[in-house]
Amino acid sequence: MNVRSQISMVFHLDKCIGCHTCSLACKNIWTDRKGTEYMWWNNVETKPGTGFPTKWEDQEKYRGGWEKAENGKLLLKSTSKSKTVTNLFHNPSMPSMDDYYEPWTYKYDELFNAPEGSDQPTARPISMVTGEYMNVEAGPNWDDDLGGSPVYAENDPNLKGLTPDQRAQLSAVERLVFFYFPRICNHCLNPSCVASCPSGALYKRGEDGIVLIDQKRCRGWRSCVAACPYKKTFYNWNTGKSEKCVLCYPRLETGQAPACFHSCVGRIRYLGVLLYDADRLEEVAKLPDDQLIDGHRSIILNPNDAAVIQAAQQNGIHDSVIESAQSSPVYKFVKEWKLALPPHIEFRTMPMLFYVPPLSPVMATRNDDTVTSVSTEFFHDIEDARVPLQFLANLFGAGHQGKLVYALKKQKAVRVYRRAKTVGDISIATAEQLLREADCTAAEAEAIYELTSLCTFEERFVIPPMHREEAIEMMRDPQEHKTQVGFGFMEAPQRGL
Ligand code: SF4
Ligand code: SF4
Repeated sequence: MNVRSQISMVFHLDKCIGCHTCSLACKNIWTDRKGTEYMWWNNVETKPGTGFPTKWEDQEKYRGGWEKAENGKLLLKSTSKSKTVTNLFHNPSMPSMDDYYEPWTYKYDELFNAPEGSDQPTARPISMVTGEYMNVEAGPNWDDDLGGSPVYAENDPNLKGLTPDQRAQLSAVERLVFFYFPRICNHCLNPSCVASCPSGALYKRGEDGIVLIDQKRCRGWRSCVAACPYKKTFYNWNTGKSEKCVLCYPRLETGQAPACFHSCVGRIRYLGVLLYDADRLEEVAKLPDDQLIDGHRSIILNPNDAAVIQAAQQNGIHDSVIESAQSSPVYKFVKEWKLALPPHIEFRTMPMLFYVPPLSPVMATRNDDTVTSVSTEFFHDIEDARVPLQFLANLFGAGHQGKLVYALKKQKAVRVYRRAKTVGDISIATAEQLLREADCTAAEAEAIYELTSLCTFEERFVIPPMHREEAIEMMRDPQEHKTQVGFGFMEAPQRGL
């Protein structure tokens, strides 16, 4: 057992109100510089929709992430030793500015200093890249709230495999219900961005697993941009270097939550430490699609297990980090309750940001504007959810519904149970029966309710002390301390460029 620690995250999608406060908090701190105008290290997408950059989930187009080769090896889709040099000069799968958008501002002078006249002065948009006047034709949230056109929703890659009936259900979604999908870098356990860099500029911090780009080593080859299937590394056209979400590590090192977490209006975000077994990473990343979620969960270790604690201590993980892992909200959502799922696990980067899938608003049974049923039928069946199950399964289950249905059924059971306790129009016996069917106890339901609805700032963000000095010592001697300097099976295709 090779125990390592990782700062991990959960986003609870039923709580996101799509306010974009998180995106702006990040933008104001990190990407308000020249060359970063188009970057959104944190962005919030409307689902169904094509997202940012457009259709980022379509790996037939972008070829990000990993694939299992016939010889059983795990290979990068975007590059290889033989393709490294040619890809430097032209990578056909690289997103272009059209896939993002051309950032713009306005000539405010023309608005404020316009001479008096009979017409209304306007500020025309100008490109922040060329400085020329431009017509705005796309933006980072062009399809926000399904705005603009059904074209975006109808081209969501997660519609793949949906039946005509499910697509019809989706039409109802477009009229009534959609959900928000906030995204940041997943700080993956098997990051394809790190493995793809010919200069060895990307690395995963030994002490907490945060994935960073060393700006001094980066040569701007943009291999990471092509290799990340989530498109969460970006090229700065001004500095000629690539950049990405740093999980606000300077804030974490001083005990503060990342800005997007701290500012989240819906309180959807949770952060905490997970301990995992790095020796099993390669084996798990090669599992068949339908076993990936179980495999991913299985390498997350119980921080209260004596053997895990001992192995963690032997690997140099500080006692205070182990204690932090023991009260991690992420461990509860992901491992204990099995409510949170990784996005697109089939990309095989082993993301460490997990999502509680949306149960969506309750569909009540009404007659003459009166709720006729106050039984459990008041809550729609999971199978009848407005967002088709297969759509959610494509996003959070590699196309398989099993783990998703489990998470949704448990959420529904908790809702019914709390309604039985607080409103009283459903019997406790009925609610407890639903809990049993959802593999949940009353105590667990209370704990889920508490962490979802009542928890404090300190319970949502359990930030370990960082011990930077000791971590730097560990990095000097990676073999002895087995830090996350690099995994044998994902060496860069050609280091040293
Ligand atoms: Fe790298 Fe994963 Fe972040 Fe993409 S999401 S930049 S692969 S760590
Ligand atoms: Fe959603 Fe929170 Fe971002 Fe608002 S701040 S869009 S609630 S993740």
